[in-house]
Amino acid sequence: AKYVYDFSEGNKDLKDLLGGKGANLAEMTRLGLPVPPGFTITTEACRAFMADGQLPPELRVEVTMAVRRLEDAIGRNLGDPYDPLLVSVRSGAKFSMPGMMETVLNIGLNDASVQGLAKFSDDERFAWDSYRRLIQMFGKTVLDIDGALFSGALDDLKVARGVSGDTDLTAADLQELTGTFKDIVREQSGREFPQHPREQLDLAITAVFNSWNTDRARLYRRRERIPHDLGTAVNVVSMVFGNLGTTSGTGVCFTRDPSTGHSGVYGDYLPNAQGEDVVAGIRNTLTLADLEQLDPTSYAELRQAMRRLETHYRDLCDIEFTIERGKLWMLQTRVGKRTAGAAFRIATQLVDEHLITMDEALDRVTGAQLSKLMFPQFDAAADGRTLLATGMAASPGAAVGMAVFDSATAQAWAAEGKDVILVRRETNPDDLGGMIAAVGVLTSRGGKTSHAAVVARGMGTTCVVGAEKLDVDVVARVMRVGKRVVKEGEVIAIDGSSGEIFLGEVPVVPSPVVQYLEDGLDVALDQAADDETRELVKAVDRILSHADTVRRLRVHANADTPGDAHRARLWGAQGIGLCRTEHMFLGDRRVLIERLIVAQDDAERQAALDALLPLQRADFIEILREMDGRPTTIRLIDPPLHEFLPDLTELSVKVALDAERGASGPDVERDRVLLVAVKRMHEANPMLGLRGVRLGIVVPGLFALQIRAVAEAAAALLHEGARPHAEIMVPLAASVMELHLVRDEAEAILAAVAAEQGVALRIPIGAMIELPRAALTADRMAQAAEFFSFGTNDLTQTTWGFSRDDVEGAFFAEYTERGVISVSPFETIDRRGVGRLVRIAVEEGRSERPDIVLGVCGEHGGDPESIHFFHEVGLDYVSCSPFRIPVARLEAGRAAV
Ligand code: ADP
Ligand code: MG
Ligand code: MG
Repeated sequence: AKYVYDFSEGNKDLKDLLGGKGANLAEMTRLGLPVPPGFTITTEACRAFMADGQLPPELRVEVTMAVRRLEDAIGRNLGDPYDPLLVSVRSGAKFSMPGMMETVLNIGLNDASVQGLAKFSDDERFAWDSYRRLIQMFGKTVLDIDGALFSGALDDLKVARGVSGDTDLTAADLQELTGTFKDIVREQSGREFPQHPREQLDLAITAVFNSWNTDRARLYRRRERIPHDLGTAVNVVSMVFGNLGTTSGTGVCFTRDPSTGHSGVYGDYLPNAQGEDVVAGIRNTLTLADLEQLDPTSYAELRQAMRRLETHYRDLCDIEFTIERGKLWMLQTRVGKRTAGAAFRIATQLVDEHLITMDEALDRVTGAQLSKLMFPQFDAAADGRTLLATGMAASPGAAVGMAVFDSATAQAWAAEGKDVILVRRETNPDDLGGMIAAVGVLTSRGGKTSHAAVVARGMGTTCVVGAEKLDVDVVARVMRVGKRVVKEGEVIAIDGSSGEIFLGEVPVVPSPVVQYLEDGLDVALDQAADDETRELVKAVDRILSHADTVRRLRVHANADTPGDAHRARLWGAQGIGLCRTEHMFLGDRRVLIERLIVAQDDAERQAALDALLPLQRADFIEILREMDGRPTTIRLIDPPLHEFLPDLTELSVKVALDAERGASGPDVERDRVLLVAVKRMHEANPMLGLRGVRLGIVVPGLFALQIRAVAEAAAALLHEGARPHAEIMVPLAASVMELHLVRDEAEAILAAVAAEQGVALRIPIGAMIELPRAALTADRMAQAAEFFSFGTNDLTQTTWGFSRDDVEGAFFAEYTERGVISVSPFETIDRRGVGRLVRIAVEEGRSERPDIVLGVCGEHGGDPESIHFFHEVGLDYVSCSPFRIPVARLEAGRAAV
């Protein structure tokens, strides 16, 4: 293999082999930009080193050849005591990675060549400063010596000389410091600082390779899902000096403003400085406008280079450069990071400049960036903010409200028009009312997949979870943070994007993007605060509209109420992929369900069902009317019935107390009967118990009621002249026989209602695919299902055997840390396992029934990465919570270009 590439041999597409830095240095060289000559040692060499534990012998030879070519090109030799060549050794993996060894500058200096450098530069101070920097960087990064020892010695010397800045030290001071640094190296590493330049070079190369496998680097790769076997490249670059007096300097710049996207000149420049001094903030930097005054020729050349790069990469670039005695050198470039708003603006700006197409613009933005733009934000400029604690950012947004510690208070105060933030140790389904009423949810326990996080995200409510410094005391109605006590009713502010929790009010600014989605482009443009906002709204509109024209996946919403359905439609939903019906049994209707469950005979049961029928029908009429003509997939009741009954322990205590007191009366009698039912229905493992289709088969009349309500709702709307498009979905089926039972019953009911009402009803019946067996027998399931909707939440639970409510938080954190999972499979679909089941079911379902409609309605339907997977496997639509619809539209478009 060829292990070494001169910059003139590589190009930007060789990132796998040359790393990002090396590939871009080569590209700039090819473009004819002034890059100091150098070469890149490939990632392949790193892989060979990792396999053998030593530098491959061919590599040593290739490095020798490359160094000699470099020496010939420049006309100086490494280690030459009279006029030395110096180089930097810079790591550079395919992905930039904190935690790895970075850079050693000034390699090639030793006790002899430092004299030569002093002479040729005519600057003795500069020469000693360079030498002490080499020993310092080399000691720290190559020899692993505590950096504080070096910086401590530097500080001591400044104190001894009575000066405050590094620049105040004289050549003699720095020579003395060099001696001190050499002593530190000897004491700490047990060896002399290596004098031979080639030894310095080889040790530095080896150190870069080794840094690929440090704990910190491995941890970072696990988190970022970067494979461990890529390896890093090493760049050897001839040194240029920004610290050779006032006609020299070093700087960084962007081809356009990374926060607004505006074209112009953005950058920092530091005269008489080397390398990292700019970023380190040692001295105040100048602007590029100042550079124009100082050195108009270099400035003009830099502007030219910036334009070249932006045209070439057709994107915003960031650049590191150095000026050595009036001569410009380019040291690094890459496509630059940017804020979410700038990403949208820059993409459309580049389209308008005819540098990229709309398809490319779509590819340059992400759903994550769009969702960032949708949440109101705290005004960062506001003063007097008091940070209480920081938790995990679970659902973005900025919420300000009074702290309340239970669901009932949250609802009561919200009803009075107060903004409240529900603060709990953790939430459970009983808190739902409070969560809906609250403007924000805060918990002291739990992770990003905890109940609070998942529910809040689904509702688009701001949420911070796992703020462990908070001690939530529900009884005393306070929370304590250290010594501070926050009482019920005190105002707090939570930032769901950063996890920060503030005491008191923090002003927020609403999102113009949401206004655009809700009120349309014209209104949003009209109300925009400034030109920048107008530009942003226009950019979002253009890119989102383009996504709509190119995407193949339809986007549906998970919506259970007419209100949700309305919002979903505003935001672009083309249907409802999941309408849950269980909430229709809560509140006042809970007693009807109780009556159904405790019914002693058919007559009592039928009476309860008859009372529920008109209520359900009314619900469906409203939703179907709102969705006029768009498919609306109604899922039959799914959770175990005992969720609608009182808690076993509480009820047992109550009944026992009543018995002891000898109490009597209809209420006491009712509790006693209820207790029998609760005991009968108690399950050890409700998630895998009597729920979904099993319930429909075992409890007579329950599904029939719901199916009739759907059919009658559709019939009523047909009479009105509306266009109801209802579909009935059967949850948790594992066998086609279950589907046949439900289908037979349903078809009879649909036929009966059609006859009664004198209308033609066309209501497809399909299956939720959420158990492995359903996926594995999808060909058979398709015989009785006109559509499949993948319920990837339960499918993930049952494929992994994870109970979602139990594994989130500490356990998943540990698993992520240990590299078992890189992201929660409940957040992003597990392609290998769960995804494979989906693929099988898609293939088999289609082979049995070619026109079967396929969708997904789990949380994954709104997750960007999962959406790309669903596009790949050929689903027809994704369904997600209303708030995530714009993101899904965008990502479905991105998946298609
Ligand atoms: P990072 O990836 O942390 O930015 P770099 O390899 O880019 O690390 O180097 C750190 C600093 O040293 C940068 O400011 C860079 O411009 C500077 N530098 C690197 N190589 C040279 C060189 N050959 N001559 C002058 N400065 C250099
Ligand atoms: Mg750099
Ligand atoms: Mg389910």
